Amino acid sequence: MRRLVILGSTGSIGTQALELVAAADDLELVAISADRRWEQLIAQANEHCVRKVLIADPESAEQARAAWDGEVLSGPEGLAELIVGAEPDLVLNAIVGSAGLAATVITLSEGVDLALANKESLVVGGELVIELAAATGARLLPVDSEHSALHQLIASESGQAPGTVQRLTLTASGGPFRGRSRDELASVTAEGALNHPTWQMGGKISIDSATLMNKGLEVIEAHQLFGTAYDDIEVVIHPQSIVHSMISLADGSSLAHLGYPDMKVPIAYALHYPRRTRLELKSLDLAQLGSLTFEPVDNQAFPCLGLALAAGREGGTAPCILNAANEVAVAAFLDNRCGFLQIAEVIAATLNEAQIEQSYSFDTLIAADRAARRVTGEHLAALA
Ligand code: NDP
Ligand code: MG
Repeated sequence: MRRLVILGSTGSIGTQALELVAAADDLELVAISADRRWEQLIAQANEHCVRKVLIADPESAEQARAAWDGEVLSGPEGLAELIVGAEPDLVLNAIVGSAGLAATVITLSEGVDLALANKESLVVGGELVIELAAATGARLLPVDSEHSALHQLIASESGQAPGTVQRLTLTASGGPFRGRSRDELASVTAEGALNHPTWQMGGKISIDSATLMNKGLEVIEAHQLFGTAYDDIEVVIHPQSIVHSMISLADGSSLAHLGYPDMKVPIAYALHYPRRTRLELKSLDLAQLGSLTFEPVDNQAFPCLGLALAAGREGGTAPCILNAANEVAVAAFLDNRCGFLQIAEVIAATLNEAQIEQSYSFDTLIAADRAARRVTGEHLAALA
């Protein structure tokens, strides 16, 4: 039995993971967490016979304590207590945003294997996270579909000479606004942006997919996970989301990972690694699909990918600042406090003003995240 903690169990990734746990006979769920949706969390705990939960928001935690007789932890100390006290073999971090960094750091510091959906951990603190995993020997298993694909493709070449894998190609669906010009994007709404063509996801990542910031965060994620230089990571638009990623090899071969878009596949890969599990899913029918298409990114209409690449290349606290600015801008867009094009504008303005530090300590990153949130908030207020 593998003892599993799921952080962010009430979200899109978290609920899909719970379905997989219910169907698996080798996973034992020992703790779960959420931010505010405590009633849903307690219902999950009851359904899955879990007696230990963490609720990040203190008020919601109080309400849960009054209504439930299991153990309810809260706050930053509660997080460490949860991860240490539950004695897990594996933690799935499915928290959204830079709020997930602390959970990643605590899990890896304890030498516990980490299934990582929270890509922001690697964007904000990639060096710290990779160093911690190396120091404690904890395994870092990506849940993001492209990185899960790359993990499998790169593993298939692990016996080869260094330099055999030359390039990584990440595919991007292009989101709901693919093909639109910059002018046409000026008037798009949050509702339209949430309507993703191929993936059903949480609100924040859906907007990131619409702006292509998601792909920018993923290039940084791939750079950190696989140690690949930015010059050797490519992005291509692939609207059908069938090819999840590709690697190009020294002998001219390219290997791709294919499948229908379904997050259960990469979640199950990470939860059961290194064993493959059986999922009742349709196998790929290429003849029925007929054609797969690919096109370049329109960097004029979607500047967020370029902003992320520039921050990644700059390094230090630049990706952390980019991420914080993006979280604040996306929340404002979802709340109708700024337009779609202004997301990239306020992120660029925040990065322009920032003092980038070449330090990766947890405290430096948290301070940079807080300062960037304040600056982006000021830029948004100036728009109103
Ligand atoms: P959702 O918004 O659906 O869910 C987020 C979860 O995180 C909720 O359970 C939420 O709790 C919890 N949460 C938020 N803040 C905190 C906090 N401070 N402490 C503890 N828990 C918190 O997000 P998704 O499931 O879509 O995404 C989760 C992560 O996975 C993101 O990093 C995303 O980029 C990544 N990812 C998601 C994919 C997808 O298909 N959804 C695909 C690839 C990657 P509450 O319900 O109480 O708010
Ligand atoms: Mg992805």
